Amino acid sequence: GAAMAKSKFEYVRDFEADDTCLAHCWVVVRLDGRNFHRFAEKHNFTKPNDSRALHLMTKCAQTVMEELEDIVIAYGQSDEYSFVFKRKSNWFKRRASKFMTHVVSQFASSYVFYWRDYFEDQPLRYPPGFDGRVVVYPSNQTLKDYLSWRQADCHINNLYNTVFWALVQQSGLTPIQAQERLQVDEVTTKEVRLPAEMEGKKMVVTRTRTKAVPLHCDIIGDAFWKEHPEILD
Ligand code: ATP
Ligand code: ATP
Ligand code: MG
Ligand code: MG
Ligand code: MG
Ligand code: MG
Repeated sequence: GAAMAKSKFEYVRDFEADDTCLAHCWVVVRLDGRNFHRFAEKHNFTKPNDSRALHLMTKCAQTVMEELEDIVIAYGQSDEYSFVFKRKSNWFKRRASKFMTHVVSQFASSYVFYWRDYFEDQPLRYPPGFDGRVVVYPSNQTLKDYLSWRQADCHINNLYNTVFWALVQQSGLTPIQAQERLQVDEVTTKEVRLPAEMEGKKMVVTRTRTKAVPLHCDIIGDAFWKEHPEILD
Protein backbone atom coordinates (compact mmCIF):
# COMPACT_ATOMS: atom_id res chain seq x y z
CA GLY A 1 0.00 0.00 0.00
CA ALA A 2 0.95 3.69 0.07
CA ALA A 3 1.79 3.71 3.76
CA MET A 4 5.46 3.09 4.57
CA ALA A 5 6.08 -0.11 6.46
CA LYS A 6 7.09 0.55 10.04
CA SER A 7 8.77 -1.95 12.30
CA LYS A 8 7.69 -2.55 15.87
CA PHE A 9 10.94 -0.89 16.90
CA GLU A 10 9.93 2.55 15.59
CA TYR A 11 8.92 3.72 19.06
CA VAL A 12 12.56 4.17 20.09
CA ARG A 13 12.66 7.34 17.96
CA ASP A 14 10.49 8.98 20.63
CA PHE A 15 13.49 8.83 22.96
CA GLU A 16 15.24 11.49 20.86
CA ALA A 17 15.31 14.84 22.66
CA ASP A 18 13.81 17.93 21.02
CA ASP A 19 16.66 20.38 20.50
CA THR A 20 14.91 22.94 18.28
CA CYS A 21 16.58 26.37 18.50
CA LEU A 22 14.20 29.11 19.62
CA ALA A 23 12.45 30.77 16.66
CA HIS A 24 13.65 34.17 15.35
CA CYS A 25 16.92 33.98 17.27
CA TRP A 26 20.43 34.06 15.86
CA VAL A 27 21.96 30.59 16.12
CA VAL A 28 25.71 30.58 16.76
CA VAL A 29 27.93 27.51 16.49
CA ARG A 30 31.39 27.91 17.99
CA LEU A 31 34.04 25.26 17.45
CA ASP A 32 37.44 25.02 19.08
CA GLY A 33 40.46 22.81 18.43
CA ARG A 34 40.97 20.01 20.94
CA ASN A 35 44.23 20.37 22.83
CA PHE A 36 45.74 22.70 20.23
CA HIS A 37 48.38 23.80 22.67
CA ARG A 38 49.91 20.37 22.02
CA PHE A 39 48.89 20.28 18.35
CA ALA A 40 50.71 23.61 17.77
CA GLU A 41 53.88 22.24 19.40
CA LYS A 42 53.81 18.96 17.49
CA HIS A 43 53.40 20.81 14.18
CA ASN A 44 55.98 23.51 14.85
CA PHE A 45 53.57 26.46 14.79
CA THR A 46 55.51 29.73 14.90
CA LYS A 47 54.84 31.74 18.07
CA PRO A 48 52.88 33.75 18.94
CA ASN A 49 50.87 33.57 15.68
CA ASP A 50 51.43 31.01 12.95
CA SER A 51 49.87 32.59 9.88
CA ARG A 52 49.71 29.27 7.99
CA ALA A 53 47.46 27.92 10.73
CA LEU A 54 45.30 31.06 10.75
CA HIS A 55 44.85 31.00 6.98
CA LEU A 56 44.01 27.29 7.05
CA MET A 57 41.33 27.99 9.69
CA THR A 58 39.83 30.67 7.43
CA LYS A 59 39.90 28.35 4.41
CA CYS A 60 37.96 25.79 6.44
CA ALA A 61 35.45 28.46 7.51
CA GLN A 62 34.95 29.49 3.87
CA THR A 63 34.34 25.86 2.96
CA VAL A 64 31.76 25.50 5.75
CA MET A 65 29.98 28.67 4.58
CA GLU A 66 29.91 27.49 1.00
CA GLU A 67 28.81 23.92 1.72
CA LEU A 68 26.17 24.59 4.39
CA GLU A 69 22.98 26.67 4.32
CA ASP A 70 22.09 30.01 5.86
CA ILE A 71 25.39 31.13 7.47
CA VAL A 72 25.63 34.94 7.25
CA ILE A 73 28.94 35.63 8.99
CA ALA A 74 31.78 33.75 10.66
CA TYR A 75 34.46 35.05 13.01
CA GLY A 76 37.62 33.23 14.00
CA GLN A 77 40.79 33.58 16.06
CA SER A 78 43.38 31.14 17.40
CA ASP A 79 41.92 27.60 17.15
CA GLU A 80 38.27 28.68 17.24
CA TYR A 81 35.62 29.81 14.76
CA SER A 82 32.05 31.02 15.30
CA PHE A 83 29.34 30.65 12.64
CA VAL A 84 26.11 32.67 12.71
CA PHE A 85 22.97 31.27 11.08
CA LYS A 86 20.38 33.77 9.88
CA ARG A 87 17.44 34.39 12.19
CA LYS A 88 14.91 32.92 9.79
CA SER A 89 16.88 29.79 8.96
CA ASN A 90 14.76 26.67 8.99
CA TRP A 91 17.61 24.36 8.01
CA PHE A 92 16.98 20.90 9.54
CA LYS A 93 13.99 22.47 11.32
CA ARG A 94 16.50 24.44 13.46
CA ARG A 95 17.78 21.35 15.26
CA ALA A 96 20.82 22.36 17.30
CA SER A 97 22.55 19.00 16.96
CA LYS A 98 22.27 19.17 13.13
CA PHE A 99 23.70 22.72 12.98
CA MET A 100 26.55 21.85 15.29
CA THR A 101 27.57 18.46 13.92
CA HIS A 102 27.44 19.57 10.29
CA VAL A 103 29.55 22.65 10.99
CA VAL A 104 32.14 20.82 13.08
CA SER A 105 32.51 17.75 10.87
CA GLN A 106 32.72 19.83 7.67
CA PHE A 107 35.33 22.06 9.31
CA ALA A 108 37.40 19.15 10.63
CA SER A 109 37.45 17.26 7.33
CA SER A 110 38.38 20.51 5.53
CA TYR A 111 41.23 21.07 7.98
CA VAL A 112 42.77 17.75 6.98
CA PHE A 113 41.81 18.06 3.31
CA TYR A 114 43.48 21.49 2.89
CA TRP A 115 46.36 21.00 5.33
CA ARG A 116 49.01 20.51 2.63
CA ASP A 117 48.04 23.70 0.80
CA TYR A 118 49.12 25.72 3.85
CA PHE A 119 51.73 23.51 5.58
CA GLU A 120 53.77 22.46 2.55
CA ASP A 121 56.83 21.17 4.42
CA GLN A 122 55.10 20.14 7.64
CA PRO A 123 53.40 16.73 7.59
CA LEU A 124 50.17 16.29 9.50
CA ARG A 125 51.18 13.95 12.30
CA TYR A 126 47.80 12.92 13.72
CA PRO A 127 44.10 13.66 13.09
CA PRO A 128 42.99 16.88 14.82
CA GLY A 129 39.63 17.16 16.57
CA PHE A 130 37.28 20.04 17.35
CA ASP A 131 34.55 20.54 19.92
CA GLY A 132 31.37 22.46 19.21
CA ARG A 133 28.58 24.25 21.03
CA VAL A 134 25.41 26.08 20.09
CA VAL A 135 24.21 29.32 21.64
CA VAL A 136 21.12 31.29 20.56
CA TYR A 137 21.04 35.08 20.81
CA PRO A 138 17.66 36.84 20.87
CA SER A 139 18.60 40.30 19.52
CA ASN A 140 21.02 42.04 17.17
CA GLN A 141 22.67 43.68 20.19
CA THR A 142 23.38 40.38 21.98
CA LEU A 143 24.75 38.91 18.73
CA LYS A 144 27.06 41.92 18.20
CA ASP A 145 28.16 41.72 21.83
CA TYR A 146 28.88 38.02 21.40
CA LEU A 147 31.17 38.74 18.41
CA SER A 148 32.78 41.66 20.26
CA TRP A 149 33.43 39.35 23.19
CA ARG A 150 35.33 36.91 20.96
CA GLN A 151 37.38 39.70 19.30
CA ALA A 152 38.17 41.29 22.69
CA ASP A 153 39.32 37.83 23.85
CA CYS A 154 41.58 37.73 20.78
CA HIS A 155 43.13 41.13 21.62
CA ILE A 156 43.73 40.27 25.27
CA ASN A 157 45.34 36.90 24.50
CA ASN A 158 47.35 38.37 21.65
CA LEU A 159 48.69 41.18 23.79
CA TYR A 160 49.80 38.66 26.42
CA ASN A 161 51.24 36.20 23.88
CA THR A 162 53.14 38.90 21.97
CA VAL A 163 54.88 40.09 25.15
CA PHE A 164 55.39 36.53 26.45
CA TRP A 165 57.14 35.33 23.26
CA ALA A 166 59.18 38.55 23.00
CA LEU A 167 60.53 37.83 26.49
CA VAL A 168 61.35 34.25 25.49
CA GLN A 169 62.64 34.77 21.93
CA GLN A 170 64.26 38.22 22.19
CA SER A 171 65.18 38.59 25.89
CA GLY A 172 66.19 34.96 26.49
CA LEU A 173 63.89 34.29 29.45
CA THR A 174 62.67 30.76 30.05
CA PRO A 175 58.90 30.27 29.58
CA ILE A 176 58.49 30.05 33.39
CA GLN A 177 60.46 33.27 33.91
CA ALA A 178 58.40 35.05 31.24
CA GLN A 179 55.16 33.87 32.85
CA GLU A 180 56.30 35.09 36.28
CA ARG A 181 57.37 38.43 34.85
CA LEU A 182 53.97 38.95 33.23
CA GLN A 183 52.13 38.04 36.45
CA VAL A 184 53.99 40.80 38.32
CA ASP A 185 53.39 43.28 35.53
CA GLU A 186 49.73 42.42 35.15
CA VAL A 187 48.43 45.82 36.26
CA THR A 188 50.66 47.80 33.90
CA THR A 189 49.96 45.35 31.08
CA LYS A 190 46.28 46.17 31.34
CA GLU A 191 47.00 49.86 30.82
CA VAL A 192 48.88 49.30 27.58
CA ARG A 193 46.85 50.44 24.57
CA LEU A 194 45.77 47.68 22.23
CA PRO A 195 47.94 47.67 19.10
CA ALA A 196 46.21 48.90 15.96
CA GLU A 197 47.60 46.03 13.95
CA MET A 198 46.24 42.94 15.61
CA GLU A 199 47.42 39.57 14.43
CA GLY A 200 45.44 36.46 15.12
CA LYS A 201 41.98 37.64 14.11
CA LYS A 202 40.20 36.26 11.12
CA MET A 203 36.73 36.83 9.85
CA VAL A 204 34.62 35.79 6.95
CA VAL A 205 31.64 37.57 5.48
CA THR A 206 29.34 36.25 2.81
CA ARG A 207 26.55 37.83 0.77
CA THR A 208 25.79 35.04 -1.66
CA ARG A 209 25.62 31.34 -1.13
CA THR A 210 28.74 30.62 -3.17
CA LYS A 211 31.14 33.39 -2.16
CA ALA A 212 32.78 33.92 1.23
CA VAL A 213 35.27 36.74 1.52
CA PRO A 214 37.92 36.95 4.27
CA LEU A 215 38.17 40.34 6.00
CA HIS A 216 40.57 41.37 8.74
CA CYS A 217 38.90 44.21 10.57
CA ASP A 218 37.46 45.55 13.81
CA ILE A 219 33.95 44.33 14.70
CA ILE A 220 33.70 45.84 18.18
CA GLY A 221 33.05 49.38 16.90
CA ASP A 222 29.92 50.43 14.96
CA ALA A 223 31.66 51.12 11.63
CA PHE A 224 31.68 47.49 10.48
CA TRP A 225 27.96 47.02 11.10
CA LYS A 226 27.12 50.34 9.40
CA GLU A 227 29.09 49.30 6.32
CA HIS A 228 27.40 45.89 6.19
CA PRO A 229 23.74 46.34 7.19
CA GLU A 230 22.75 43.34 5.06
CA ILE A 231 24.33 40.87 7.49
CA LEU A 232 21.75 41.51 10.20
CA ASP A 233 18.79 41.90 7.81
P1 ATP B 1 41.12 22.80 24.65
O1 ATP B 1 41.04 21.40 24.16
O2 ATP B 1 40.56 22.96 26.03
O3 ATP B 1 40.54 23.82 23.70
P2 ATP B 1 43.64 23.93 23.83
O4 ATP B 1 45.05 23.50 24.09
O5 ATP B 1 43.16 23.85 22.42
O6 ATP B 1 42.70 23.10 24.81
P3 ATP B 1 42.85 26.73 23.78
O7 ATP B 1 42.45 27.60 24.93
O8 ATP B 1 41.79 26.41 22.78
O9 ATP B 1 43.48 25.41 24.41
O10 ATP B 1 44.08 27.43 23.09
C1 ATP B 1 44.52 27.09 21.81
C2 ATP B 1 46.03 27.04 21.78
O11 ATP B 1 46.46 26.64 20.47
C3 ATP B 1 46.70 28.38 21.99
O12 ATP B 1 46.95 28.63 23.33
C4 ATP B 1 47.99 28.22 21.20
O13 ATP B 1 48.95 27.58 22.00
C5 ATP B 1 47.64 27.29 20.09
N1 ATP B 1 47.40 27.96 18.79
C6 ATP B 1 46.22 27.99 18.11
N2 ATP B 1 46.34 28.66 16.96
C7 ATP B 1 47.63 29.07 16.89
C8 ATP B 1 48.37 29.81 15.92
N3 ATP B 1 47.82 30.27 14.79
N4 ATP B 1 49.69 30.06 16.15
C9 ATP B 1 50.26 29.60 17.28
N5 ATP B 1 49.61 28.89 18.24
C10 ATP B 1 48.31 28.62 18.05
P1 ATP C 1 21.11 13.08 4.69
O1 ATP C 1 22.04 14.23 4.51
O2 ATP C 1 19.72 13.51 5.00
O3 ATP C 1 21.63 12.06 5.69
P2 ATP C 1 21.71 11.05 2.73
O4 ATP C 1 21.72 11.09 1.24
O5 ATP C 1 23.03 10.88 3.44
O6 ATP C 1 21.00 12.38 3.24
P3 ATP C 1 20.76 8.74 4.24
O7 ATP C 1 19.37 8.40 4.68
O8 ATP C 1 21.73 9.05 5.35
O9 ATP C 1 20.66 9.92 3.17
O10 ATP C 1 21.24 7.55 3.35
C1 ATP C 1 22.58 7.34 3.01
C2 ATP C 1 22.69 6.96 1.54
O11 ATP C 1 24.09 6.86 1.20
C3 ATP C 1 22.07 5.64 1.17
O12 ATP C 1 20.74 5.79 0.80
C4 ATP C 1 22.92 5.16 0.01
O13 ATP C 1 22.46 5.74 -1.19
C5 ATP C 1 24.29 5.79 0.29
N1 ATP C 1 25.24 4.87 0.90
C6 ATP C 1 25.75 4.94 2.14
N2 ATP C 1 26.62 3.97 2.38
C7 ATP C 1 26.69 3.24 1.23
C8 ATP C 1 27.41 2.08 0.85
N3 ATP C 1 28.27 1.50 1.68
N4 ATP C 1 27.22 1.60 -0.39
C9 ATP C 1 26.36 2.21 -1.23
N5 ATP C 1 25.64 3.29 -0.94
C10 ATP C 1 25.79 3.82 0.29
MG1 MG D 1 39.57 25.93 25.56
MG1 MG E 1 41.34 24.60 21.82
MG1 MG F 1 40.76 28.01 21.72
MG1 MG G 1 23.12 10.62 5.48
